[in-house]
Amino acid sequence: MNRQALDDLKQQIPLMGYLQAHDWHPARRLSRGRWMGLCPLHADHKPSFLVDPYKDLFYCYGCGRGGDVIRFAELYHQVKFSQALVLLHQWRGAQPLLQEVTRFYRFQLHRYSEAITYLYQRGVRSLELIEHMRIGYAPGGCLRGWLTQLGHSLPALRQAGLVTGVGYDAYVRRIVFPLEGNLYGRSLSDAAPPHRFLPGTKGGLYSWDQVRRYPEVILVEGLFDYAGLWQAGFQNVTCSLGAHLNVSQFRQLCDGPRTVYLTFDADGNGSGQQAAQYLSRSLRERGITARLVSLPQGHDPNSFFVAGGDAQEFHHLLQEASR
Ligand SMILES: [Zn+2]
Repeated sequence: MNRQALDDLKQQIPLMGYLQAHDWHPARRLSRGRWMGLCPLHADHKPSFLVDPYKDLFYCYGCGRGGDVIRFAELYHQVKFSQALVLLHQWRGAQPLLQEVTRFYRFQLHRYSEAITYLYQRGVRSLELIEHMRIGYAPGGCLRGWLTQLGHSLPALRQAGLVTGVGYDAYVRRIVFPLEGNLYGRSLSDAAPPHRFLPGTKGGLYSWDQVRRYPEVILVEGLFDYAGLWQAGFQNVTCSLGAHLNVSQFRQLCDGPRTVYLTFDADGNGSGQQAAQYLSRSLRERGITARLVSLPQGHDPNSFFVAGGDAQEFHHLLQEASR
């Protein structure tokens, strides 16, 4: 990639926008339009991360690192320069397309009774929750046509993972949830793999910018778990989309003092509980209070509520959570 192409890429991805899309919040305004905030690259307790939106540069007085948006992507995602370029390209390309896809699938949701029935079975019953999570439905066999009509090229759709190599919609009969830079799809049919993501990272913790201000947060594995808790009135819930956290998710949990209630599945083989124990040790090493919530055997937070559990009973489980 030549100098010009690098400059173009940087111009198309302003540092400030990229930082905010990765949950960075400016805390204090300085002279000449510059901002200070907590450093997303190290465990920062008082704002030491300086951003100059006009020069498109950052510098951290805590960890001494600084540079442009490419340097930030390298450090944040812990990748080499060339890989950071690939991530930034994907990020730039995916944003408008994913918004389009989200809009389309949200519209489909109310046209397919099978989708609404499935949501109902999984305890998703409030319209407010469907709006909050921007839940949609991918029936299959119609996204490609719609997007090409809008002018998106087939190779671009293939590269984004929305269309398969042979040209079919990649998401078929799936409830879909938009994520930051990705799309999670839960299959309605037992014949297909239950979980599907677009290629690339699953991103940070779900809805973290709304959750990070709580001194106590509840961490669950799946989006339907999240939905159950949110619907029961717990707004301090976030989701890691699997029992194993990626580097950015772990860093988010450690970005300030808090208590984390790990509420993973109580599955028969114990894998959820093992992952929770490992995570609680890692969190404690970073000075974060971790508590393990025990659900009744065989339950996950979603099935707990579907089976009739209520907010009061869940509160009780939180109180009983072991240290
Ligand atoms: Zn720093």
